[in-house]
Parts: sequence; C-alpha cells; structure tokens
Amino acid sequence: MTHWDLIVIGGGSGGLAAAQRAAEYGAKVLLVESHRLGGTCVNVGCVPKKVMWYAADLAEGLHDAAGYGFSLSANGHDWQALKSKRDAYIERLNGIYAGNLDKRGVTLVRGRAAFADRTHVTVGSERFSAPHIIVATGGHPVVPPVPGAGLGITSDGFFELSSRPERVAVVGSGYIAVEFAGIFAALGSRVELVLRTGAVLKQFDAMLGEATLKLLTAQGVMVHSHAIPEALSGEAGHIQLTTRDGRQLGPFETLVWAVGRASAVADLNLGAAGVACDADGFIQTDKYQATSTAGIYAIGDVTGRAQLTPVAIAAGRRLSDRLFGGQADRHLDYHNIPTVIFAHPPIGTVGLSEHEARNNYGAENVTVFKSSFVPMYHAMTEHKPRCDMKLVTVGPEQRVVGVHVIGPGADEMMQGFAVAVRMGASKRDFDDTVAIHPTSAEELVTMR
Ligand SMILES: Cc1cc2nc3c(=O)[nH]c(=O)nc-3n(C[C@H](O)[C@H](O)[C@H](O)COP(=O)(O)OP(=O)(O)OC[C@H]3O[C@@H](n4cnc5c(N)ncnc54)[C@H](O)[C@@H]3O)c2cc1C
Repeated sequence: MTHWDLIVIGGGSGGLAAAQRAAEYGAKVLLVESHRLGGTCVNVGCVPKKVMWYAADLAEGLHDAAGYGFSLSANGHDWQALKSKRDAYIERLNGIYAGNLDKRGVTLVRGRAAFADRTHVTVGSERFSAPHIIVATGGHPVVPPVPGAGLGITSDGFFELSSRPERVAVVGSGYIAVEFAGIFAALGSRVELVLRTGAVLKQFDAMLGEATLKLLTAQGVMVHSHAIPEALSGEAGHIQLTTRDGRQLGPFETLVWAVGRASAVADLNLGAAGVACDADGFIQTDKYQATSTAGIYAIGDVTGRAQLTPVAIAAGRRLSDRLFGGQADRHLDYHNIPTVIFAHPPIGTVGLSEHEARNNYGAENVTVFKSSFVPMYHAMTEHKPRCDMKLVTVGPEQRVVGVHVIGPGADEMMQGFAVAVRMGASKRDFDDTVAIHPTSAEELVTMR
C-alpha cells in the first residue's frame, strides 16, 4: 500500500504516541523508523539513565547504611553486569513497542524517510503519500567543533561504556551533565565538571543550580568554572582538555560532551516540502503543532520546545485527537510542565522561577516562600545534604506559580504539586492542606 491517512516519521516517544492514537480512531497509519523503536528516551535517554541513577542511589544508600546500624562492605560495582541487564531490559521494551504497533494496526517501515514533496515521503526506493504527515525525528547530541573533539563521547557513548572510567570529565552545565556527573561520582569515579560559566541548570530557578553545585562539590566532584574548551589532545583513555584561557585539564580516561542537542532534520529534505526551521534548526510549529506547510506537523524534540518525553507524547496524542478524533481545538498547553533532574538528591520543579515571575508580574507582585533543612533521613547519616524548597507566588491571593525542590523524594513529590499549580492553587490552598508527617513534602504545605 502506498497511500495512507497518516505518515509518521520517527518511532520515538512522540511518533509512537501520535501513530497509535490515530490508529485507535481508525486511521490507516504508516510509521517510519530507521533505528530502534522507542527513540532517544528508551534507548539512549530517560530509561537507561534512570537505571544508572538507581544504581548510584543504591551506592549512596550503602554509604548511609552505617548510620542506621548496618555494618556493610560494598564489594565494588560491576558496571558491565549492570549494562548487560540494562541492555536486555531495553531490548524487551523495543519488542513491547513493536507489539503495541501491531496490536493497533500501525504499519512499520524500517528505513530513513525524506520528503519528496508536500504529500510524499520516500524510504529507500519506496514512495508513500498521505494528506497528513507528522515529523517526530527528535534530535542528537552536539559535539563542539574543537580540534580533537572526537576523543570525547556524548550521552549516546555514555550508554555504551562497558566499564566505569576512573577519571572522567563531563563538559556541560545542563541537566544531562549534572545527572552524569552525579552517577559517575556516586559509583566511584573521580569526576571533573567543566563549565563555560560558573553555574549549572541555568534555565531553572537559581536556587536549584546553586544547591546542585554545592552538593556536587560535597560529593567530591571538582568543578572548573569559566573553562571554555579549546581542544582535546592525547589518545583514547588518556585525554587532555585545553581551555581557552590556557588551563590543561586531565588526563581523563573518558570525556563526555553534554553541551546540548540539535534537531535531526539533516536528511529529511524539508525544503522539498516547504517546511521552515528556526535559526537554531528546529522545525517551527504553531500551537497546533502545524508547520509552515499545510498537512505537515512536527512534535517533540525536533521542534526544540520543552524537550521531554511526556511533552512529545502529549503533543502527539493531542495532535491525533485533533486530526482524527474530531477534537478541533485539541492542543498541548506548554505552560507549567513539571520536570525532574535526576541528581543526588533529585530535583523537582514546575512553573516559573523566581526570576521569571518577577519579570512577568513585576517584583512587587511576587512573594516567595523558602525552606532549607536537613531531611530526617539524614539525622542518622554521616553526610547531611540539605533539602531546599521554594514556592513562588503572585498577586494578593498568592497564586502559586512555581514550586522548586531539591532533596530526597523531590522526584516523586512533584507530580501532584504540578496538578495543584495547573489548577491555580493559592498559598492558602497549600496551607489548608493537611500535612503528611513525617515527610519532606510536608514542608511545602507548612511554609510561613
Ligand atoms: C541522556 C538523556 C536523558 C534524558 N532523560 C530524560 C528524562 O529523564 N525525562 C524526560 O522526560 N526526557 C528525558 N530525555 C529527553 C527525551 O529522551 C526526549 O525528549 C524524547 O525522547 C523526545 O522524543 P521524540 O519523539 O521527539 O524524539 P526521539 O525519541 O529522539 O525519536 C526520534 C526517532 O526518529 C528516528 N528518526 C530520525 N530521523 C529519521 C528519519 N529521517 N527517518 C526515520 N526515522 C528517523 C530516530 O531514529 C528516533 O528513533 C533525555 C534525553 C537524553 C539524551
């Protein structure tokens, strides 16, 4: 068959969600995927990352155990054994995704898709057409154009490591850099974090980045600030990093570039379809995920907006609801998207930072509530990392527009608070909610 109701390019988080939802409405759907089903999240993103985070979390728990009366000696950590189990788990997920497509009657074609024109897509020598085409091709990690850059690896390479490097540099300040630095450090590597400025997690509330840096340093991570990479030299396993101001860092067994992600559009031949990208190469879309060409839509990381799995999924499902489910105005609201950074301890955040709230509403209309304490769990442990929390409220009714937490449990805490923020809860609503004791989360409803 060559003519379809919908063609989806990319079988990652967004593409799978859009294709399956459309098929549930009875649409004839073709999905094109060139690599493994599940895309970045399942294969080289959220899922294997969270497995590694769990391992790192356990390592920290083993250290803390002495405080609770245990006499334990952890006999090292078998990175390769964990990798094998992790890979097998992901392979199972790949199979489950293929089964789900089958169940819903979505046809899968393996190969690299490109536009022939506004309604036609080619995959190798095959040619397909549809009135609706969704681009969900995601992105890939960026490697900076410095001499010797290829000596380093990216997040993709992180998941291929068969053993834990003894001395590792992580270059970058975003959430992936912070997460990898924390995982390596907790599992026993000597970690150096290389920052262009002196800050991490700059797109979030400043409290989170500041606390993260303190915690990373306490974990033993060496932070190099204002260190702009000029070149890598040496050889694999013995990598030297030269910074623009002449610092020589290393030698490192492994160097990880975590300096951002670019859109995967290079071989899509978007020009043939008249699809416009922004200055950074991301496909421009309106609130309905429509591109500059009627009948062609883009969702997920390739649009550059809130690059998170649940965002790609939500945008894909809503788009199919609109195109095939008779819900004419269905679209994703990109405000108040909660997210977690799997640091040690984790960070949970939703809504506006204090800085954004002041800019949007005027400083005089913003009231901030903060709390900083050592969680009860750490009353017994040798290390005593603090938990920091902030509520950002606006107006006389003190509507809560931002909730930011770094501390144990923040990852699981945030989903429910995101519902409250989305519903427009005020500080009074938080105060009137009875606390759950003893938890860290109760601080969020008892702040004064
Ligand atoms: C290290 C790391 C950790 C992350 N952790 C989290 C996290 O904890 N939580 C979270 O929410 N998000 C996380 N993310 C982000 C998340 O993985 C992405 O936001 C999500 O995968 C985006 O989904 P997508 O559908 O837009 O693209 P992708 O999942 O990248 O899927 C795109 C698919 O398109 C295919 N493709 C590309 N071009 C073509 C073509 N021409 N023809 C055919 N197929 C093509 C690719 O092979 C790929 O399978 C993480 C990302 C990374 C890198």
